[in-house]
Amino acid sequence: MSKKTIRDIQLQGKTVLMRVDFNVPMSEGRITNDNRIVQALPTIKYALEQEAKLVLFSHLGRIKTEADKETNSLAPVAKRLSELLEKKVTFVPETRGQVLEKAIKNMKNGDIVMFENTRFEDLNEKAESKNNPELGKYWASLGDVFVNDAFGTAHRAHASNVGIANNIETAVAGFLMEKEIKFIGEAVDNPERPFVAILGGAKVSDKISVIENLLNKADKILICGAMAYTFYKAKGYEVGLSKCEDDFVDFAKQLLEKAGGKIILPQDHLVTKEFAADAEADLVPADNILTDQMGMDIGPKTIELFKEQLNDAKTVVWNGPAGVFEFEKFATGTKAICQILAELKDATTILGGGDSAAAAIQMGFQDKFTHISTGGGASLEYLEGKELPGIKAINNKGCCCKNC
Ligand code: ADP
Ligand code: MG
Repeated sequence: MSKKTIRDIQLQGKTVLMRVDFNVPMSEGRITNDNRIVQALPTIKYALEQEAKLVLFSHLGRIKTEADKETNSLAPVAKRLSELLEKKVTFVPETRGQVLEKAIKNMKNGDIVMFENTRFEDLNEKAESKNNPELGKYWASLGDVFVNDAFGTAHRAHASNVGIANNIETAVAGFLMEKEIKFIGEAVDNPERPFVAILGGAKVSDKISVIENLLNKADKILICGAMAYTFYKAKGYEVGLSKCEDDFVDFAKQLLEKAGGKIILPQDHLVTKEFAADAEADLVPADNILTDQMGMDIGPKTIELFKEQLNDAKTVVWNGPAGVFEFEKFATGTKAICQILAELKDATTILGGGDSAAAAIQMGFQDKFTHISTGGGASLEYLEGKELPGIKAINNKGCCCKNC
């Protein structure tokens, strides 16, 4: 079901409540990476061009005690946003009450008000994170329409996403949200084939539901990262000291049986005797890892194999790095997959997962994918085939409400 977007509604003169994801990394009150603010700019600028009165909400970190408020204020974010927009952003250091209401009331078309971290409300019996009905209703009462552009929280039903949407007539997606729905949603529901999934990263257990869901949808699943060793153990191979989840070996065995050849495992590995950046590495075939060795990355034969398997792909979804990419020596596999995907012609390439996205960006492939998801947990749950509450609460296209 396609969702209404900010382009589908009238914004001029309306008080637009916009949920963005400004959950930026901070250190000692300073923003260490403003990428999330930068990414939200197109939707914000569009609303301003349309002469909306724009009220911005976001969470930042977790708020468990009064002291957490000091380190998680959105004030520095409002300042940075103002610099990026070259425009005044009125920051209201409250999450409710008269001061906030008055600031909103006094807005003119094209003005921006941003208020304090929505999770400050969590000190009040987790009102934001538990989607307290009064809170969602109250926030919804502050504006005319709701725009949700925070995909990173779409897998959670919070007051500032689902609560507001359920208490306002018009709830639409912003551009970032629209992109996530378009690419991840369509890849899972209606992919152009061949559809190849690449799954790597640390654990099978984190991604069980993703593997299960994609096994039904994808034409092939290429396994890499530490996840491969649980599958190898399931095949009866020695995995030595490699990261392996013994409790999931049976599950991996069942998957291999069910997959009927759809699951492709690595053929060779770079192995070491210790987990270290400068550890001496050997290249070994998959069935020849010794008891005192651990797998750190995929080898050249596997890279070749993956290249062949991806050659005619029309849709590729990748989640999870191929090796311990944090160590330069074991980043080769992850980089090679980035390169293979960058060179694919006429394929939609989608990367989801916090670490894999960070790896690809760090390696300079930011613009080489069709889509790099902005949500770690949310993209995983989306790939699991779940309906995300934050997306569900947005109005459907061609319909007057969220229910018809
Ligand atoms: P994502 O965040 O992209 O979903 P994960 O969180 O599942 O990915 O996994 C990322 C982690 O997996 C990285 O820290 C990486 O070092 C680790 N990893 C990848 N391959 C291996 C391996 N062979 N042995 C140990 N850890 C690995
Ligand atoms: Mg991760």
